[in-house]
Amino acid sequence: MSTVFDVIVIGEGITGLSAAGALAKQGFSTATFEQQLFGGLVININELDPAPPGGEAGGAAYAAEMTGANAEAGVTSIQEEVTALATADGGFSVSTAGGSYRARRVIVASGAKLKTLGVPGEAEFEGRGVSKCADCDGPMFQNETVAVIGGGDSALQEANVLTHYCAKVLLIHRGAAFSAQPRFLEQVQGNAKIEPRFNSTVEAILGDKMVEKIRIKGTAGSEELAVAGVFAYIGLEPNAAFVPATVQRDDTGRLVTNEQLETALPGVFAAGAVRSGCGGSLDDALADAQRVAAAVAAQLK
Ligand SMILES: Cc1cc2nc3c(=O)[nH]c(=O)nc-3n(C[C@H](O)[C@H](O)[C@H](O)COP(=O)(O)OP(=O)(O)OC[C@H]3O[C@@H](n4cnc5c(N)ncnc54)[C@H](O)[C@@H]3O)c2cc1C
Repeated sequence: MSTVFDVIVIGEGITGLSAAGALAKQGFSTATFEQQLFGGLVININELDPAPPGGEAGGAAYAAEMTGANAEAGVTSIQEEVTALATADGGFSVSTAGGSYRARRVIVASGAKLKTLGVPGEAEFEGRGVSKCADCDGPMFQNETVAVIGGGDSALQEANVLTHYCAKVLLIHRGAAFSAQPRFLEQVQGNAKIEPRFNSTVEAILGDKMVEKIRIKGTAGSEELAVAGVFAYIGLEPNAAFVPATVQRDDTGRLVTNEQLETALPGVFAAGAVRSGCGGSLDDALADAQRVAAAVAAQLK
């Protein structure tokens, strides 16, 4: 019979890594599953703002620190995508293409992915001007004009990052004002390379081999703007397709939990960016990780 872990944590983002480490240190047999690379959303952020408490400011280095500490604490890290989660023999089974794994409790910490614009040209020019990573791809746009789409923290933060490389950053927002925290607003307002365009939506991304322009629609109608790159930060959508449909979601698809972060399926918990009501920052993710680890430990003791 295969091993039954005390806890399986789905996702090696900051939430999953932190919760798994806390449980393993208390002596619970703990496994984490990851479909891509450990770290999740922070992996491409060179300078986390604010810097994590007592950790590295670079997202990849911070996640690597946690991964190393988890290995020392005895966490089993399994690099496989979870495709299904179900009840089994009084506990749970977690399925991947590689097999099926058992656990007494499951923490869903599968986070979220950046939403796409859904406009013509976006998929076609992916990797040829359309990017999701300002820190990694910014250097390819030295002295060029690029467009950042969005009006929240991520859009403003990444627009600032891009000004380290680009001549101009058009910051295109569908609303009449940005919704970011004051420190990001101040950074944008004080940055002469950033040109905001309010009340505007992207209609299409255009080019030949590479992105050459975007068509936006504003209050005065449509216009084309010459840009070499397009970065969309218009919000996140949760990664929860493998979670049974019986587990309640909110209207954004995030998993609904009680105060102990337990979902409607007793024994299955949700924490971090995949959870309804979790704030958007790293501090929120870390706080969720501690809460969920405490709640799971209380049930297993
Ligand atoms: C562009 C951007 C910049 C940001 N900058 C900052 C910042 O400077 N400061 C700050 O405080 N916060 C910042 N944030 C927010 C911060 O990144 C998140 O709050 C935090 O990373 C959420 O962590 P998480 O572990 O809950 O989710 P995620 O980071 O999304 O991790 C989830 C993990 O689960 C994995 N996964 C998903 N589905 C499966 C599956 N089926 N099987 C196996 N694995 C799976 C994913 O691959 C991923 O690795 C930023 C966010 C974005 C988008």
